[in-house]
Order: sequence, then C-alpha cells, then structure tokens
Amino acid sequence: MASDWKTCTPPPGGETITYDGKTYTVPNHPIIPFLRGDGTGPDIWAASEKVFDAAVAKAYGGKRKIHWMEVLAGEVSFAKTGEWLHPETLEALKTYRIAIKGPLTTPVGGGIRSLNVTLRQVLDLYACVRPIKWYPGVPSPVKRPDALNVVLYRENTEDVYMGVEWKSGTPEAKKLIEFINKEFGKSIRIESGIGIKPISAFGTRRLVRMGIQYALSHGRKSVTLVHKGNIMKFTEGAFRDWGYELAKEEFRDAIVTEDELWDKFNGRMPEGKLLVKDRIADSMFQQVLLRPDEYDVVCTPNLNGDYLSDAMAAQIGGLGIAPGANIGDGVAVFEATHGTAPKYANQDKVNPGSVILSGVMMLEFMGWKEAGDLIEKGIAGAIAQKRVTYDLARQMEGAKELKSSQFASAIIENM
Ligand code: NAP
Repeated sequence: MASDWKTCTPPPGGETITYDGKTYTVPNHPIIPFLRGDGTGPDIWAASEKVFDAAVAKAYGGKRKIHWMEVLAGEVSFAKTGEWLHPETLEALKTYRIAIKGPLTTPVGGGIRSLNVTLRQVLDLYACVRPIKWYPGVPSPVKRPDALNVVLYRENTEDVYMGVEWKSGTPEAKKLIEFINKEFGKSIRIESGIGIKPISAFGTRRLVRMGIQYALSHGRKSVTLVHKGNIMKFTEGAFRDWGYELAKEEFRDAIVTEDELWDKFNGRMPEGKLLVKDRIADSMFQQVLLRPDEYDVVCTPNLNGDYLSDAMAAQIGGLGIAPGANIGDGVAVFEATHGTAPKYANQDKVNPGSVILSGVMMLEFMGWKEAGDLIEKGIAGAIAQKRVTYDLARQMEGAKELKSSQFASAIIENM
C-alpha cells in the first residue's frame, strides 16, 4: 500500500496504529498524518511539531517517537493537485487512524462545502470533543474562570449541519412546502427558505455513549444532556430521551439520573456514581456563567454544541488556546478550533496553543499521557512567566510578547 501513495510519503521506520473495534494499539513509532492548514496554519504547525517532539523525547528518552506524515487538504492541496480535499488524504486518515490538523480555509462559493464538515461526515467522526479548562494567568472576562472545567461532546454528523436545505423560491423549496402544507395541514409561507433538522436515536446514542464512557474512565462527576426539547420535541427532546434511555440501558449500575437522585436518594449523590442530568440549551448558557462548577461532561446535538463550545471557550480565554478533536469509531482527527486568521499568515505571530493543546488530547488518546502532561506543564509555566503570543500579551499587564516559534521554545523550557 505504502508505495502507492502519490501525494504523501509514509516515513520509513514508522508503524501503523491499529484498532480492533474497541481499542487502539499504538506502537512506539507510530505514523501520524498531519494537515499543516492554511493561512497561519504553517506557522502554528512548525511551533507545535517542535513542542510535540520535545515532549515525547523528554517523556520517553528516545524509546518512543512520532513519525509525522504530511497529507494534503485546503489551499496547498488545491495548488498542488487541483483538489481541495485529495481522496488520498481521506485514505491516509483512515489507514493511520489518528491524525492532527491545523485550520483550513473554507472556499467561498463554487459549491464546495466546508472541508472540516466534509472530513467529519466522510470519516464519520461523530463526536466533536472540546475540553474547556482554564490555565492560571490566561486573561478571562469572568471572575472565576477556574470554576469551569468541562469536556463537551457535540454530535457531529446530524442536525441542521447535514445541509438538507433549499433556497427560498426554488422549485425544490416550493415543492416541499406545498407537500408539507397540503399533507400535514401546516401553513409555512410559500416563499420561505427551508431546512431539515434530522436527529436520530442511532446518532444520539453513540454520542452519549462516548460521553458517558469518558466521564466514567476519567472520574468525572456528571454528564449533562443539553437540548431545546421544550420547543423541538421530536429532535432535541428526543435527544434528551434517547440519552437517558442509553444511560439506563448500558450503564445502569454506574449512573444515577437527576430524577432518581431526588426520588431515591433525597438529593444526596451516592458515592462513586455518575450523575446524568439534562438542561434546556438557553438556560445552559446562563448556568455555565453562574454555576460553572456544577457541570462536567456535557453532551449536545450539533448546533447547540457549536454555540456552547465557543461561548465556554471565551470564558477560559478564547479560541486561541481551546483545543478540539473529531472522533469516530477507529479514526480520530485532533484540530485547532479557530480558523486560519489569514491576516497574520507568515508572520510567525499567532498563538499555536490550540493545536498544541489538541496535541495534548491526542497524546492522552494514544496512551502517551506523560508527554501530554509535560506540554501542559510547559504551557502553564510560559503563561505564568507572562511569555506569551500577541493575543494574550495585549490583555496581560507586564507580559513579554513572543512570536509563535518563541512561545514554543518557552513551553519547551518549562517542561
Ligand atoms: P479566524 O481565522 O478564527 O480568525 C478570527 C480572529 O480570531 C483573528 O483575526 C484573531 O483575532 C483570532 N485568532 C484566530 N486564531 C488565532 C490564533 N491562533 N492566535 C491568536 N488569535 C487568533 O476566523 P475567520 O477570520 O472568521 O476565518 C478565517 C478562515 O478560517 C475562513 O476561511 C474560515 O472558513 C476558516 N475556518 C476554519 C476553521 C477550521 O479549520 N477548523 C474554523 C473556523 C474558520 P484578532 O484579529 O483580534 O487578533
């Protein structure tokens, strides 16, 4: 297979990560594909790669090493191959199973969908995972940023993101509206644009399962299902119902629902159990500001999760340092949560923290936690010394502004 690749070169000496349907086996010299990304992506990647390699070398003294393999997507792919997302890139991500990416430009117009959305759908990366926690010293707009420490699991393949929608005035929109009005007695204005919001039991159950498994394996205290089920009963409301159903069916001995907490346990959480609760989406935006420490793992449908994750990221210092991952069964792609910030391209200026912390998630996912811990220590140290990139420096009194590459060096010095 390896000799057939045309747009990428599997590094010699690297080995393939395998997956048996449940667990990944990571060799000591895994091949990990990376997408450099567009705009500021190359600067960010250069800084990040340096940090990852230093952490792995320090943690394992040469016993373990990542063999990076560049794969193409975005502007660089279009320039080299005429394709925004080369089919070989998808093949490489499936073959090597764990990958990391910088931000990609979404081509505007021309019928090309977001590359990120395409990657998620084609590889069936059904959970978008965003840990949101504060690092001491990072400027934040709230009084107690340390009180928020949440891991958000956002459903990634369904909901209005499926792109099932038609423009106002098109024959398709009119036909659908006429059908709905006539067959179901509704009164949608005929000139409306129209979109469809599918949410299934299958999509909900696998997402909530992943969230609960994470909560249990990481000693988290609660899982909250966030929905707008009071209005959208059969999509968002069903998300809540299917979530509880799954929790009771598959994790009965490990969980207590919020109703049970009051009915059976008089409001006192039994030792060692995981609390499963739900919140209406609008109230959840208040809750994470007013009572952040009551939330832990949070599971959401696609659109709610999109809004909520960015809002929570703002609380802990912004997107520049918020990491993320898109995870399916047997493939995981770790990624920056911000865009390409094109106005800063090639200036070695922006904060590489989002990709670096996504790498921390990746290392933990691989079972290489020691290396991830070193990076977290390095970041915390650099921030405590106020040696940071422009975005943080402009909000921190007495900070020294570093370039992306210098920030990487400061992280390494602090490991
Ligand atoms: P953006 O690239 O995220 O940039 C918006 C602003 O956020 C920047 O001007 C900058 O703020 C700040 N920022 C972003 N990344 C930063 C970093 N690493 N360090 C410090 N500050 C950072 O959003 P956009 O301008 O709306 O989108 C640009 C392109 O990125 C579009 O093509 C979009 O489709 C794409 N995009 C890709 C992804 C992805 O690949 N996951 C996600 C979102 C958007 P200041 O100007 O205040 O310094």
